[in-house]
Amino acid sequence: MMWVVYILIAAATFLFMEFVAWFTHKYVMHGVLWFLHEDHHDGGYHPFQKNDAFFLIFAIPCWLSTMFGLMYEMYWLVSIGAGIFLYGWCYFLVHDVVIHQRFKWFTRSNNHYIKVIRWAHKMHHKHRNKFGGESFGLLIVPIKYWDKVKQDERDSYKAKITIFEDERRTIQHRNTIN
Ligand SMILES: [Zn+2]
Ligand SMILES: [Zn+2]
Repeated sequence: MMWVVYILIAAATFLFMEFVAWFTHKYVMHGVLWFLHEDHHDGGYHPFQKNDAFFLIFAIPCWLSTMFGLMYEMYWLVSIGAGIFLYGWCYFLVHDVVIHQRFKWFTRSNNHYIKVIRWAHKMHHKHRNKFGGESFGLLIVPIKYWDKVKQDERDSYKAKITIFEDERRTIQHRNTIN
């Protein structure tokens, strides 16, 4: 049954990494290491960004915990390495592929959750500079972004209903004339 524990450790590490990523983004990337993060905010097109250095930085604890875990047969440490690895991949897929479309692997998704995190990250990018930012997390975002997307969906539904009603009235009107 040990594998259940290892999976739980990897899952807990994954969740904890969202907190680590939020914290690093808010206090380090928009702090002392802004010079590495800046080109991700300037709105220009860079096939490679200095910001990509953060993938290498996060790869270090991942590599160390996996290596030492295997060397000393401490498999809980390997699970931590796996959790960091999975979070890194997830961050790359969600942030770089789905949100920023740096690789056109998926077409734009209409999934509600994807819309929410895309909107939240868009609000993060509204701020071009180091200070006064918002929405530093990626997968867990404040409720106000959920509310905004819900409202948008409600509005577009209402707009569709109005168009439908207008068409129905026009047809009815045409029928009464004939
Ligand atoms: Zn940022
Ligand atoms: Zn971004």
